Amino acid sequence: MARLEGLTTTPAVTRVAPSPTGDPHVGTGYVALFNWALAKRTGGRFILRIEDTDQARSRSEHEGAIIDALAWLGIEADESPRAGGDYGPYRQSERGEIYADHCGQLIEKGAAYRCFCTSERLAEMRAAQKAAKGQMGYDGLCRSLTAHESASRAADGEPHVVRLAVDKSGVTRFTDLLRGEIEIQNREVDDQVLLKTDGMPTYHLANVVDDHLMGVTIIMRAEEWIPSVPKHVMLYDAFEWSAPTYAHVPLLRNADKSKISKRKNPTSILWYRDEGFLPEAMLNFLALQGWRPNEDRELFTTEEFVAEFDPHAISTGGPVFDMTKLEWVNGEKIRELSPDELASRLTNGGFAEGWTRDEVLGVLPLFQERLKRLSEFLDQSRYIRETVEPDMEGLRKKTKKVEPALLATGLREAAEVLTSMAGKSHDEQEAALRAIADRHEFKVGALFMGLRIAITGAMASPPLLPSVDAVGAEESARRTLALVEQLAATA
Ligand code: GLU
Repeated sequence: MARLEGLTTTPAVTRVAPSPTGDPHVGTGYVALFNWALAKRTGGRFILRIEDTDQARSRSEHEGAIIDALAWLGIEADESPRAGGDYGPYRQSERGEIYADHCGQLIEKGAAYRCFCTSERLAEMRAAQKAAKGQMGYDGLCRSLTAHESASRAADGEPHVVRLAVDKSGVTRFTDLLRGEIEIQNREVDDQVLLKTDGMPTYHLANVVDDHLMGVTIIMRAEEWIPSVPKHVMLYDAFEWSAPTYAHVPLLRNADKSKISKRKNPTSILWYRDEGFLPEAMLNFLALQGWRPNEDRELFTTEEFVAEFDPHAISTGGPVFDMTKLEWVNGEKIRELSPDELASRLTNGGFAEGWTRDEVLGVLPLFQERLKRLSEFLDQSRYIRETVEPDMEGLRKKTKKVEPALLATGLREAAEVLTSMAGKSHDEQEAALRAIADRHEFKVGALFMGLRIAITGAMASPPLLPSVDAVGAEESARRTLALVEQLAATA
């Protein structure tokens, strides 16, 4: 595919430009991290620009949440509404004059024109185009107004928009770093509205003007924006500016390959934070959606990612947002943490309510191996502090070959061993428990399963004898005897 010399050595100015119309989206994190990594790797600048020209849907709390969510992922912008910077303001709603001024320049050059058509006329025009099954789009009526007439009607306060005067002949071409040359027939490009009746710019005008004025050198964004590029290229040409490099990255997808959506996948970065996904795991997982490091490792640190990231290596296949994979990455990252660090994350993140940090630290060896999300901690560790309902169904299945009365006898003796040998080494305790099973001639696995279900409630749990230590020998014995009674009652 197209290669750009010096892409990873020349300081890159990149940006992410979310609209603050909802919770911080994983797609924003995914696009942001590629842009951030390239700016960081090359010693450039990474800009977070808020595209809030849709005033009806934009909310300042969403803006704050987006900035916070990116910061949580470890993505800090060099320039943003919060950080400031030399090219601000970084909120489009505060740049109205800049857009009006630039739109004026285009009108003067004849590259844009005022359109006074009412919404009724436009509706009629569309209906007629539809009925005739002809080309849709603005028919250019106001293009023929003289400069004088246009200016004087505007001066009289007649409502109008400003449209791009698209030259309908020829083609517009641009090169996408990941997809090669893309070309579109100009006759398919509508005379795009640039400035709305209320004087607000549309996405196209604001985006192009800002990317230019902010010095953006490469635009990495989701592939859904490809159809906008011809209009943007025409705008760059009209302003006589050179366009930045484009790299349209693949969209994140649901399992059925449709664009990732709330109905099929949680899409808010905050949801992942609150479930106890580590930011470094999210970042690793999101990076993997479109990119692989050289030796095809799946796990890497943020530093390794930044050091190696090359946009040329982004693949354009439709990545599926696979929760099982994310949980795997998260589990691996959880195991890489020192117990100290993990205890802090659990307590500070609100995942260990009712536990002090030291208490968490004390039981972590039981859980660090098993956690896939930090939010599982309270549930997995419940048995340590509370009696949990034993899984009798599971017990029956797993100990089918042992006469229940015999198992009950064995468990009674095991309860005895747990208290009499409390404090002895696990090897010694285990030998004593094995001797019980051997004496009664049943498999030791059945005895351990009985104890495990009595003490932890479940068939799958952290290791047995460390669990006995955490629960306490007396309490473990009591739970074992309670299970024996249940066995007798159901026999
Ligand atoms: N405001 C657009 C968005 O919400 C920005 C698209 C672009 O990066 O040009 O994604």
